[in-house]
Amino acid sequence: MATAHRIAVLSGDGIGPEIVAQAVKVLQALRGQGFDFELREAPVGAGAYLLTGTPLPQSTVEMALASDAVLFGAVGDPRFDHLDASLRPERAILGLRRALGLFADLKQVSVPAELAELSPLRAERVAGVDVLVVRELNGDVYTGQPRGMRVAPDGPFAGEREGFDTMRYAEGEVRRIAHVAFKAARRRSAKLCNVDKANVLATSRVWREVVIDVARDYPDVELTHLYADSAAMQLISHPARFDVILAGNLFGDILSDAASVLTGSIGLPASALLGDAQRGMYEAGHGTALDITERDIANPLACIRAAALMLRHSLGRDDLAQRIEAAVTAVLRQGLRTADLAGGSRVVGTTAMGDAVVAALR
Ligand code: ATP
Ligand code: MG
Repeated sequence: MATAHRIAVLSGDGIGPEIVAQAVKVLQALRGQGFDFELREAPVGAGAYLLTGTPLPQSTVEMALASDAVLFGAVGDPRFDHLDASLRPERAILGLRRALGLFADLKQVSVPAELAELSPLRAERVAGVDVLVVRELNGDVYTGQPRGMRVAPDGPFAGEREGFDTMRYAEGEVRRIAHVAFKAARRRSAKLCNVDKANVLATSRVWREVVIDVARDYPDVELTHLYADSAAMQLISHPARFDVILAGNLFGDILSDAASVLTGSIGLPASALLGDAQRGMYEAGHGTALDITERDIANPLACIRAAALMLRHSLGRDDLAQRIEAAVTAVLRQGLRTADLAGGSRVVGTTAMGDAVVAALR
């Protein structure tokens, strides 16, 4: 008898609920044959703020912590932009990451041949591209101390206001994300490209030394290194050369967005947020898309792919993840397109796309 996986469903705001509903439908279709789960929904984001006065209620955090995986929609609502930063809906993401100890963001970007025409790059250059960007999520210049604003004490602009941040990485912090990246490379084509700026940054020199050291545990993985500027160039000029990219918080932020653009639609890439625990959080790479909310036109495929990543990374069901991914490819092959993938033969809505993926699973 299969044990029921506990999945926390945090749909959030904007198109979150409608795309998550499609992903849940796909999971339901896989029920049976040794796979079962229990869904627990909890409020997050603007909806949670309206209900409870905070975008991330403690009860939601506790439910996430008591789950095997979290399926996350999107949060945000400009109506709350005037609130103190700690109360804004987007803050819930940071709170969840912290509470769940998530330090790795694995963004999967693939361009099936039938969608290559959508890419801003030439189709022959992107057809078949499949890149995984592993981004460290906690450290780097986004969180390093000290940071702030002050009056410049010296130099040619002394007396003017200046801003300053601190870029930092501790060895252990690099080691744990490096292990995540090498393990991911092992499951794929065993090619890992480390991205840093070791020619100019002390942070990057520590980063690179640790990555090289960790590589000893993975002799089967081919490790290469690129400086961030060169990596950005190659990602655009020769994306097919990449399998797994490992980068710190800042360079990973930039490269994962650049990689997403290769697909031609923000409605396709999905992310797995992971930590030391088996439990991860899974989400579409895009945001709330309030401009198209509740019109049944949003592309649910990124969120459906996020459900596949959840099966792979947290629920130990790589076989089912592959089935979902194959079903997504199949519906695209059939010519089904949501509006963002326009140009296709048949434009369908959010619900119909979800139904098509379910049908393709059978
Ligand atoms: P947020 O502030 O939450 O990031 P946003 O609107 O700034 O929201 P996205 O949600 O990432 O950013 O959307 C950017 C654009 O892409 C919007 O025009 C949106 O409608 C479109 N978009 C985003 N996700 C999808 C999707 N799944 N299907 C179709 N279009 C989408
Ligand atoms: Mg946005």
